[in-house]
Amino acid sequence: MNEMPGLYRIAVLPGDGIGPEVTAEAVKVLKSVEEINGPLFRFQTGLIGGAALDATAAPLPAETISICDNATAILLGAVGGPQWDSKRPEIRPEQGLLQLRRRMALYVNFRPAKVLESLIALSALKPDRVRGTDLVIVRELMGGIYFGNPRGIFAKNGERMGVNTEVYREHEVERVAHRAFQLARLRRRKVTSVDKANVLETSRLWRDVVTRIGRSYGDVELEHLYVDTCAMQLVERPTRFDVVLTNNMFGDILSDEAASLTGSIGLLPSASLGERTALYEPVHGSAPDIAGRNRANPVATIASAALMLRYSCRMESSAVAIEAAIERVLKRGVRTSDMHGKKRPVTTSRMGDLIAEQTRKLLKSSQFRRK
Ligand code: NAD
Repeated sequence: MNEMPGLYRIAVLPGDGIGPEVTAEAVKVLKSVEEINGPLFRFQTGLIGGAALDATAAPLPAETISICDNATAILLGAVGGPQWDSKRPEIRPEQGLLQLRRRMALYVNFRPAKVLESLIALSALKPDRVRGTDLVIVRELMGGIYFGNPRGIFAKNGERMGVNTEVYREHEVERVAHRAFQLARLRRRKVTSVDKANVLETSRLWRDVVTRIGRSYGDVELEHLYVDTCAMQLVERPTRFDVVLTNNMFGDILSDEAASLTGSIGLLPSASLGERTALYEPVHGSAPDIAGRNRANPVATIASAALMLRYSCRMESSAVAIEAAIERVLKRGVRTSDMHGKKRPVTTSRMGDLIAEQTRKLLKSSQFRRK
């Protein structure tokens, strides 16, 4: 089959549990963009995680690797589930995702956490405290204590000893810092770099490098916070943050803390960027407890597709249109079951239909017409 030139090749990896349900809705919304703006995407679906294990005995089969290698961007659902929990660690579903992250050298993860006025009652914090929160956690993803050597559990002097090592090289800090400053330029021009420089050498290097990189972004304000202070400020004054730049482990923890501000895990998108194809996925997992029941909230995956248009396809106005469509649909009181609406919750596919319809409407309006 001849392919139209100039199309963005999107690798769609639904994965396990609710993954196929939520990615189907994101693709639906992307197709609604095409209905207004003409052909834009070529979707290719690949297996990953438990679904791939069942079909091929590998969590990231060669065919999926080839689809991803040739893609503009990857849109992923989620991987994992109890039926694969007894597998050996090297052939568990999560390995598929880890292998993909390594292959694409995805060294930075963006996790936006924005509190929508219409969902403010769902936040873990009081409305007055959380109103207006709009931040992005920028987490280093390939270095730090999760990957450093030596590591292991060793026997010494008759007892066991657990060892992990945190290592950061200057270039690893430089590249993620550049991404954070560049992102801040598209937002409110403030970077908060988070470390533990009062105790850790890696953090002292981190602070030093971020300060140096910051000098070439004179239009962006830079502040440094210790991670314990940051954790506290995230609940005390979340609106003070714009871009929060941090290492792998601190980012892992702080991004979950930030997630609890927004109301439901079903709302949170993420983007992982690196040296090759970028990966877009919801923050949530495969939710086996509700899988296959048309109950999952597809908003996080649809919002991840919007990030994909912004960062991989340079389609800012369509990205904004999808985000505005999500906000409008939620403002009308439409809720999936995770958001405890007063009204009867809608299904996954109904939520997708409504956001797709709203996206079409917005794209037809002059404000969002393609430049
Ligand atoms: P989870 O995020 O899948 O679910 C936690 C809770 O949130 C569940 O009650 C679930 O029903 C609910 N939930 C999650 N997403 C939802 C959505 N979109 N709409 C409505 N409700 C939603 O986390 P878990 O239960 O700890 O993990 C389940 C499986 O997912 C495990 O196998 C885990 O390894 C895997 N996992 C995968 C990823 C990933 O693929 N990136 C991330 C986290 C967990």
